Amino acid sequence: MPEYDGLIIRPPSESDSLILQYTIGCSHNQCIFCPAYKQKQFRVRSLSEMEQDVLDCIPALRVWMQKGVTAADMAAAGLRVKAAGIKLSVTVLLGIGGSARSREHARATGRLLTKIDPDYVGALTTMVVPGTLLHRIEQAGNFRMASPFKILAELGEMLEQTEMRGLFFSNHASNYLPLRIRMPLQ
Ligand code: SF4
Repeated sequence: MPEYDGLIIRPPSESDSLILQYTIGCSHNQCIFCPAYKQKQFRVRSLSEMEQDVLDCIPALRVWMQKGVTAADMAAAGLRVKAAGIKLSVTVLLGIGGSARSREHARATGRLLTKIDPDYVGALTTMVVPGTLLHRIEQAGNFRMASPFKILAELGEMLEQTEMRGLFFSNHASNYLPLRIRMPLQ
């Protein structure tokens, strides 16, 4: 089996996936809501380490796309993965626009999913974790998390707005409504 350094972070829908760790930590490490890799120094694993992993298993690639790039960057990266014949799984973060930008976030994400047309989408719900910059911003009164009902409306709007054709999951512990939908919505 391939080696993995640290905690594995992946959507529940990918619990059976092989995960090849080509980088350790996060090269961006700036998203204000994310506590995941703050203590970890980013590094790219050596070619020989990667080759060993590829030899050890059938290659699969999980792409975890988050903030730190523009929507156009994410679309371009996703389309490159698909053009390479690799199944594409992406994560969307409900509530990251806060209460004020919930609808806007739903619509923009729905449009982006249409453009990329990933094979799988896993929706998580934003959690404001103490110690993150987002938590400090919230404490200062400059971010208000959307209510559970608003998050559900955001999910509904996102699904209505997108014409993606893959599987859409909302089955993470952070979600208010467990869903597994073959898109597009009928
Ligand atoms: S959410 Fe942001 S900081 Fe956290 S791992 Fe992803 S890109 Fe890095």
